[in-house]
Amino acid sequence: MKNKARVTIIGGGVVGSATAYYLAKNGLTDVVLLERDYLSSGSTGRCGGGIRQQWSERMNVRLAMRSVEHFKNFEKEVGLDIEYFQGGYLLLAYNEEEEALFKKNVAMQQEEGLDVVLLSREETTRKFPFMNLEGLKLSAYCPSDGHANPHLTTFGYARAAEKMGVEVVTHTQAKRVLLENGKIKTVVTDRGEIETGIVVNAAGGYSHQVGEMVGLNLPTESYRHQIFVTEPLEHILDPLVISFVNNFYIRQTESGNFIMGQGDRDELPGLEITPTWKFLKEMSDKMPRFFPFLRDVRILRHWAGLYNMSPDAQPIIDRSNEVEDFYFAIGFSGHGFMLAPAVGEALAEWIVFGEPRSVDISNLSLQRFERGFTREKNVV
Ligand SMILES: Cc1cc2nc3c(=O)[nH]c(=O)nc-3n(C[C@H](O)[C@H](O)[C@H](O)COP(=O)(O)OP(=O)(O)OC[C@H]3O[C@@H](n4cnc5c(N)ncnc54)[C@H](O)[C@@H]3O)c2cc1C
Repeated sequence: MKNKARVTIIGGGVVGSATAYYLAKNGLTDVVLLERDYLSSGSTGRCGGGIRQQWSERMNVRLAMRSVEHFKNFEKEVGLDIEYFQGGYLLLAYNEEEEALFKKNVAMQQEEGLDVVLLSREETTRKFPFMNLEGLKLSAYCPSDGHANPHLTTFGYARAAEKMGVEVVTHTQAKRVLLENGKIKTVVTDRGEIETGIVVNAAGGYSHQVGEMVGLNLPTESYRHQIFVTEPLEHILDPLVISFVNNFYIRQTESGNFIMGQGDRDELPGLEITPTWKFLKEMSDKMPRFFPFLRDVRILRHWAGLYNMSPDAQPIIDRSNEVEDFYFAIGFSGHGFMLAPAVGEALAEWIVFGEPRSVDISNLSLQRFERGFTREKNVV
């Protein structure tokens, strides 16, 4: 590991790797990407891989739409097939409140240029006949949503960054950040020190702890989220399907397996990622009601990861006012994989050119929590 770098990124998930890639692409290659375990070992490698542009907050729609442009060109631009598939996202509305919210959201998303439509219950049934849609009011369907493999996406960015000169250092943990007169001097790791002027906190579930290393109290906390994967079946499900009131999401992978998860309102903040029987029981009782073909399908593997939450369930992309050149891209809730390309790009531009150029991220600043904010509602 080199002992001096202009930029040190803490966290080798998809956000840190995308940032490293775009820094190098913009000519800043004197960068170390630090990962305490292996690349994508955090939330990224534990996520559902979903890529959705249907959000209730306009900023999330914009970032997701920008990211989709990058996902579409990933193989050509970054040089790796990431199993990207645009099979759409189908959001199911089951009550009047959701119906009204979906109508409002779809109008805003269409204003942003998204190819999203509302489908009646009959239209949804005709298009997706293998689901039990009893009680459905309507659905929102966006065919350009999709999914990809999060491990491959992270490896793709990191390897491409490495080829351009970035040093990717795995199995090495940042322990402390030393400051001098409010300026970053050194990142101390368990394998030596890196003299550095700029630090990016891309530590996912550990973003708060990395903030504390420079004396900041960043408003993020982590919650366990669980997910499982079944044995493969013949391909039947193109879109990723979500119900907010029934609390589930499900998608079928390229190899036919079904991946599905739910949120748990009883979870307390923390860093615990042991999977629970409660989740297995609740999901395996619930899912065959909506997807009858799952009734006799076996579960292969069950795991958990962390949602790093901000107060409004939208990411915080900012530079500290207190500690010079301390940047952070944190608090992604359940949507950091899909937003990573646009966020990595904008953050790298900010560092290299002094401002984000590709997308205006000013309302994702830390200061928004003092001004007042609205919460992203489309979260499982
Ligand atoms: C069950 C589940 C399902 C999800 N589904 C989706 C989905 O379908 N679509 C979507 O977009 N998002 C989804 N998410 C959210 C998504 O996984 C995250 O928002 C995203 O992966 C965040 O990426 P990241 O790079 O910021 O964090 P991470 O992937 O967690 O990367 C941070 C890295 O920092 C490392 N690190 C931490 N501290 C240190 C340190 N001190 N020194 C060195 N390294 C350190 C960690 O080891 C980790 O690898 C899901 C999350 C979970 C848990």
